[in-house]
Amino acid sequence: MITREDIRELAQFQSENGEGCALSFYFQPQTPQNKSHKEEAILAKDLVRNALHEAEKEGKNGGTRADLQRILEIAGNLRGNQAKGKAIFACGARNFWREFDLPARLWGTQLFVNRRFHLKPLAALLGAQPRVCVTLVDRQRARLFDLRLDELTERDRLFHSLPRHGRSDGFSGYDAGHTERRIADEAMRHFKDLAQRLKDAQEKGGFEKLIIGCQDVNWSEFEPYLHPYLKQRLLGRFTADVAAISNEQVREHANRIVREAQEKRRQALVREVLGQAQRNGFGVTGLRRVLRSLEMGEVQTLLLGENFRAHAVECTSCGHLDSHIVRYCPVCGRETREISDVCDAIIPAAIRRDIELFYVKDDAELDRVGNIAALLRFRADQNTPARIFAAS
Ligand SMILES: [Zn+2]
Repeated sequence: MITREDIRELAQFQSENGEGCALSFYFQPQTPQNKSHKEEAILAKDLVRNALHEAEKEGKNGGTRADLQRILEIAGNLRGNQAKGKAIFACGARNFWREFDLPARLWGTQLFVNRRFHLKPLAALLGAQPRVCVTLVDRQRARLFDLRLDELTERDRLFHSLPRHGRSDGFSGYDAGHTERRIADEAMRHFKDLAQRLKDAQEKGGFEKLIIGCQDVNWSEFEPYLHPYLKQRLLGRFTADVAAISNEQVREHANRIVREAQEKRRQALVREVLGQAQRNGFGVTGLRRVLRSLEMGEVQTLLLGENFRAHAVECTSCGHLDSHIVRYCPVCGRETREISDVCDAIIPAAIRRDIELFYVKDDAELDRVGNIAALLRFRADQNTPARIFAAS
């Protein structure tokens, strides 16, 4: 599975001499509901074949053609009903080849040949995906999982044996209430241990958000031990029987909670950014203003309409991006080159600078202001100190 470091490496890549030799190939299998499994695999092969034709016509370097040949072979083995999507990034001239399995939630099967890798589908998938710890708990057991990009991995297990009922009851009629208390004490110790372990893991950077699966009765027992800091990071809770639930069920519950939380945050962010922009606060809208804020290092979160595309120019010397199609860079005076979609330059820049990226689907208000907006951490022109955004 792809890591943040992988994405950063892709974002840093740029082909030399301005030659378009960075290949990005995305394969999205069809959903199982769709019966025509074959189509997507055929489409993939056609796409690569066409690109190969183009490359031959344009006399592209042998590296690009060899990459396309290799992708064509791989595409030949792809099936429309496979469970995972795929992405390949290649540049033969630089001896660069990376292949990743991805969750089958891409926008479609696509191929791009450009100066940079096309990271939009990847950014849409990963941009705002938190690292989540899913914890199952009852009075004596706990299981801890990492959830990342739909993939669930168990990483820790706790078992706290409780004093058994009846060992002394039948023998001497000895105080059954005493056993009850001992069980409650042991359960409490177990909850405490678990809470501490979660706190340690979070502090070591093991996860950003938490999801808990347990019975309702156990939740009221466990919750008081959960550190307030972790409570803030709680995305949600589902009902689960630790001993009986399957990993697949855990994954489904957790994924649903993540999706719902992301959707809520997306909506809150759009309202926040638009409101801030309106009162000339920590928000900007429209390509020109967003580009300026990116250049000033002001941006904390970038919001892009799902279908946002725009022409722009990029300075061949200082890298300045401009929404006006000008021949010479207004910053350094050197020549500019046109880029057909400014996202291809913005997204890698955002990834390199750890800017949070959110795609927004069909939002009329965002659409009205140009389908692109940003939440700022500060405003250079107002000389204001950084502030913390509370809607996370
Ligand atoms: Zn310049």
